[in-house]
Amino acid sequence: MPEETVIAQIYRELGEEGLAKARWQEKMRVLGSLAQLLWSALFALLLVPTGWAAALRDALGGQSAFGALLVVLAIMVLQGLFNLPLAWYFGYRVEQVLGTNRQSPAGWLLDYLKQNLISGALFGLFFWGVYMVFRTWPGGWLPALAAVVFLLAVGIYLAQPLMLRAQFKAEPLDDEELNARLARLFEKAGFAYGGVRVLRAGEKTARGNAALVPNGGRWEVVIYDTLLDEIGPEGLEFVVGHELGHRAHHDWPLILTIYGLLFVVGIALAHAVLVWTAGRWGLAGPGDPATLPVLNLVLSAWLLLGQVAGNAFMRSREYAADRYALELTGSLSGFERAFLILARQNLSDPEPPAWVEFWLHDHPSIAKRFKAMQEAARSL
Ligand SMILES: [Zn+2]
Repeated sequence: MPEETVIAQIYRELGEEGLAKARWQEKMRVLGSLAQLLWSALFALLLVPTGWAAALRDALGGQSAFGALLVVLAIMVLQGLFNLPLAWYFGYRVEQVLGTNRQSPAGWLLDYLKQNLISGALFGLFFWGVYMVFRTWPGGWLPALAAVVFLLAVGIYLAQPLMLRAQFKAEPLDDEELNARLARLFEKAGFAYGGVRVLRAGEKTARGNAALVPNGGRWEVVIYDTLLDEIGPEGLEFVVGHELGHRAHHDWPLILTIYGLLFVVGIALAHAVLVWTAGRWGLAGPGDPATLPVLNLVLSAWLLLGQVAGNAFMRSREYAADRYALELTGSLSGFERAFLILARQNLSDPEPPAWVEFWLHDHPSIAKRFKAMQEAARSL
């Protein structure tokens, strides 16, 4: 009898109920993306044709540079509150139905506010920068816009560890043997090992995750305690090897560049729409911060389409990182172990609908990754 593949094992472990949840999760991913766009449109309709955005701009002195910053931040706070029901449904309620949620509504709300404070400050400064560029160089804003987008990309990259720290308590890994094993893996790959930080994620979620974050010239492994409890040393070596692969291939600068270009094109499209709004609903055109709901709507719609390109690129880099980890660890069993655990914890559909994967997934399906790995293992 042929040995059972990891894909068959995943299907068996998910069971009928788990698979139904995994498929429902895919449906929610699509609905969530569309609902987000609809919500942005509703927000713009509520604020712009009513003249409320223009009134807010006048009340906060949006003609000055400082006043423009206040207008941007005020609109972002309003949008954060307006988004609350949607975020609650797709961020809290869906997780509850899936059975992955371990938070109280109040705990979730606190996290939502903390995350929105960090990302709101980052994007607030970004949008303010965009308006300042439109005002200062009305005829030749493109190079300066590219510089502002570049700063946003750097900001997003640097904010990642901050976001994790705001969300989870953490402690250093208390396991000498595993530490030594990972240190050897880093040495073999030629990277400086910065230790392991275990995030106490299990208080909030049943999901598992791991990442590498920069820490003073070294790379620190951050891992959810939920995943660490189950994955085992071989599985962890594969996951860490995969992340090292992304670093070795310089995937993050490439991905940030692609998303940076998408942002530049999206803002350029929005600029054309903002020119059209000049003289309507009390708006003054591209340099007017009261146009933010419109700018945001155009940018969201564009990114919902444009992410197809970003996701396609990211998926191709996933295969390369898998291969790197396979060559580094020298065995397929770590991959199989890691995928079995991650699929069960995150309720991953091993074979999601192809169009959903094409549109919304930044990772290839587990079935595709497993097939690619089997082929790579044969040529080892
Ligand atoms: Zn990856």
